[in-house]
Amino acid sequence: MLKHTPLANSLSELDRRHLVHPVSSYRGHEARGVRVLTSAKGATVTDAEGRELIDGFAGLWCVNAGYGQESVIEAATRQMRELPYATGYFDLGAEAPIRLAAALADRAPGDLNHVYFTLGGSDAVDSTIRFVRYYWHAQGQPQRDQFISVASGYHGSSSMGAGLTALPIFHEGFGLPHEGQHKIASHDLYRNPLADDPQAVIDASVAELRAKIETIGAERVAAFYVEPIQGSGGVLVPPPGWIKAMREVCTEHGILFVADEVITAFGRTGPLFACEDEGIVPDLMTVAKGLTSGYVPMGAVLMSDAVYDVIADGAGAKAVGHGFTYSAHPVSAAVGLEVLALYEGGLLENGRAMGARLQAGLQGLMDHPLVGDVRGRGMLAAVELVTDKVAKTPVPASLNAATRLFDRAWDQGLVVRAFPQGVFGYAPPLCCTAAEIDAIVDRTRKVLDLTL
Ligand code: PLP
Repeated sequence: MLKHTPLANSLSELDRRHLVHPVSSYRGHEARGVRVLTSAKGATVTDAEGRELIDGFAGLWCVNAGYGQESVIEAATRQMRELPYATGYFDLGAEAPIRLAAALADRAPGDLNHVYFTLGGSDAVDSTIRFVRYYWHAQGQPQRDQFISVASGYHGSSSMGAGLTALPIFHEGFGLPHEGQHKIASHDLYRNPLADDPQAVIDASVAELRAKIETIGAERVAAFYVEPIQGSGGVLVPPPGWIKAMREVCTEHGILFVADEVITAFGRTGPLFACEDEGIVPDLMTVAKGLTSGYVPMGAVLMSDAVYDVIADGAGAKAVGHGFTYSAHPVSAAVGLEVLALYEGGLLENGRAMGARLQAGLQGLMDHPLVGDVRGRGMLAAVELVTDKVAKTPVPASLNAATRLFDRAWDQGLVVRAFPQGVFGYAPPLCCTAAEIDAIVDRTRKVLDLTL
């Protein structure tokens, strides 16, 4: 016997009653209701009322290849028909994950030659934590159980990863961070008194990281986690050389350096991996989102030869006890291979051209009285709203409601992220046309005018 009354059968009512949404105010969502998307093509999404919008955020910064790519749909369909599932347990495997692992290893910086596939970004980060611990145990240094990450950073929502995340709502009420999960200040430049001198920002962070390591004891620090550009913290771009300087401090102390490229990889900032821009090779890297362009779930951990060898030798004949039923899922891998072909077949190039156009267009909004800062790289950007440009005063709480800013953009036919601190986030699909990029900028200006 089903519990629903006929009255409960509208989609919105069913959603309100039964679907728990990620990172949302449950009560707020119940009151506002759901907006249902029904179809999408290229960079355009269509809602249940037939309204077409430009998706300036590529879903959740993931649909890098754009919607409706027939070759991706065909690759997934073919794989489902031929072999929808194969486990990697018991020395088994399937062609697509093997080929995707090899393709990633071929393209990844330095000796990141070993790929462990996950279902998304959070479990990729969580897997790195397990691999890092295992690595240090295998080295005879189990006391290396302390982790350092960066304020405003986001490293997913798993129990361990959310502790590395440095955004309050992911901690409050969850008993996080765990003991041994430390933070250093963000490189955020906008309200940083040192911002005019990028080298001073780098020096300050280096000094803070060194001091943190010294306080904890270098022999106890397992790993340092960093996003090449902080995404969920509000698209915060470090000064050039910042990441490299942090990498050097870690190398000096023998601390593993983990680059979380869940947002930044796969053309989001220009190259396939943002670490290429920085000229660094991390010990481990996490990717997800653009890996399959959001068509199906998948993430991955890339490990250096050295990390892999220590883990492999440490385990010897014993199994390394980490794995999921859906690790290296063949359908996701088939999608990943096809999406990679699209990136290399022109999307990366288009993304670079459109990224330059997006950055220039958004910079043009700096003349608007509400715009305090425009920042980003490639197809990843943010516009920060203020009420006083000189004092850099955040927009007041009445405007600050992210949902209101989101709604205003929606009414102009634009989907953007509206961060609670009054920041618009942009991560359009790499397939955008020049006209679509211009429309993203124009519609943003309309929203700002209406918000004045
Ligand atoms: N790491 C970073 C840098 C992210 O931005 C995200 C998600 O936005 C994650 C990890 C978690 O990925 P997922 O949402 O796929 O679990």
